[in-house]
Amino acid sequence: MRDYTIHVIGRRWLNERIFELRFDRPPGFDFQPGQKIGFRFQAATWDYTLLGPTHGPELSICVRHLPEGRFSPRLAAAAPGEPFQIGAASGFFTFKPSPQPAVLVATGTGVAPFVAFARAGVRGFDLLHGVRAAEDLVYGRELAAAARTYRPCLSGPLPATGAPEFFAGRVDACLTQRLSPGMYDFYLCGNGDMIRDVMRLIDERFPDSRVFTETFF
Ligand SMILES: Cc1cc2nc3c(=O)[nH]c(=O)nc-3n(C[C@H](O)[C@H](O)[C@H](O)COP(=O)(O)OP(=O)(O)OC[C@H]3O[C@@H](n4cnc5c(N)ncnc54)[C@H](O)[C@@H]3O)c2cc1C
Repeated sequence: MRDYTIHVIGRRWLNERIFELRFDRPPGFDFQPGQKIGFRFQAATWDYTLLGPTHGPELSICVRHLPEGRFSPRLAAAAPGEPFQIGAASGFFTFKPSPQPAVLVATGTGVAPFVAFARAGVRGFDLLHGVRAAEDLVYGRELAAAARTYRPCLSGPLPATGAPEFFAGRVDACLTQRLSPGMYDFYLCGNGDMIRDVMRLIDERFPDSRVFTETFF
């Protein structure tokens, strides 16, 4: 697979733990919304989903900074102009239009491919975004504007002021309580435990639905 060199243009912290990193776009580099790139570093590869838009002079990713991690601290500290080696965009977690309603379910930075879908013009989906704290609901306004329903699900404490817009609990509980029986196209992205639990729920409550998954860790 062809490799490319990309250079950091800038970083924007979305909260204390999550940042967006922008790179220049090498000539001939193409991708589909929902695809990821692999960064080559010390004989290993780290995958990050491209946010979109798919056209334009820049590439961008959204990264959770894990201070103990092997690679995300390097991205968190990268200076403007710093080069990185990446492979071509790859992956099959792309939007497949169909007559069935699309239900997108993310935990944490697993919302990245759904941002790419929205920036590519996908509309009318139901989106559940599961996080521990409200600050981690990154891209919420943009996603809410593209979605039919946008449901932020907080597994940690609710804000002290009270917040009727939040579902108190995990995404699987929200699906159980808020999604009517039927056949859907589910797109699940993020933590592997969430994907396992939601797959189980789909088997029980939404049989004959289609399911697409992308496990981050
Ligand atoms: C297809 C694919 C796409 C991905 N896209 C993204 C993306 O867009 N943004 C992103 O932040 N990460 C993404 N990841 C995860 C990313 O590749 C790294 O695993 C992550 O950044 C941790 O790398 P690290 O070297 O800092 O930590 P490591 O030293 O590799 O791991 C530390 C531990 O952190 C946990 N962990 C890993 N990723 C996360 C996370 N995102 N949130 C919370 N805990 C985590 C794991 O339990 C892991 O054992 C993606 C992974 C895959 C497979």
